[in-house]
Amino acid sequence: MMLELKGISKIYHPGKDNEYRALKKVDLMVEEGEFIAIIGESGAGKSTLLHILGGVETFEEGSYRFKDQEIKKMTDRKISKLRGQEIGFVLQDFGLLGEQTVIKNVSMPLYFDSTPMKEINRKALEAIETIGITELKNKKVRQLSGGQKQRVAIARAIVNTPSVILADEPTGALDGKTSLEIMEVFQKLNSLGKTIIIVTHEMYIADLCRRRITIADGEIIRDERFK
Ligand code: ADP
Repeated sequence: MMLELKGISKIYHPGKDNEYRALKKVDLMVEEGEFIAIIGESGAGKSTLLHILGGVETFEEGSYRFKDQEIKKMTDRKISKLRGQEIGFVLQDFGLLGEQTVIKNVSMPLYFDSTPMKEINRKALEAIETIGITELKNKKVRQLSGGQKQRVAIARAIVNTPSVILADEPTGALDGKTSLEIMEVFQKLNSLGKTIIIVTHEMYIADLCRRRITIADGEIIRDERFK
């Protein structure tokens, strides 16, 4: 099993007056190569779940195994290394540096590990090519359209060749047609073997995924698979 959550609870402000259970004993198994949408109303716990999956949020109860490694037993340093190697994040607002070029933005994660300079360029160009934006590589990000920016963000997410891509409302800032184009990029990455998990509140986006997990009030209330 690639990802295995058992009895995961997220409690904000535990023991305080404003204690809040954002996730309640969630069980979730994800196999390599899955393409999953997490849906649910605002405040249901979708982002919290995605952040736990990405190792950027702690949890108070339960166990999370990433490729058979228990996250709870890992040091912060080890979790951050695992994140760097195995997980790519894509956000709604892209999180790019507007004044920098596409290639610079895509290269960014590689500056934080020990990748040699020459490798950085090669890997960044490879990611850019996979996403199909080679002709934009020397443009400044602020000159790009929303859809182009999201492609840059996806290229940046895959530059470290992660096995899992986690996306929080990746089409939330885009129009319908552009959203579908971005979903095609995710479909392509999935066909190349990446495991993809997308948080969305839009049903037509969820319909393009092969598994749909519905969260309500911190619990998984439905888990459906499609062909
Ligand atoms: P969704 O992504 O489905 O909109 P979230 O996972 O962002 O939901 O949030 C789930 C619940 O947890 C919400 O009620 C939210 O207010 C609460 N929450 C999220 N982050 C925090 C935090 N840092 N402190 C306290 N409560 C939080």
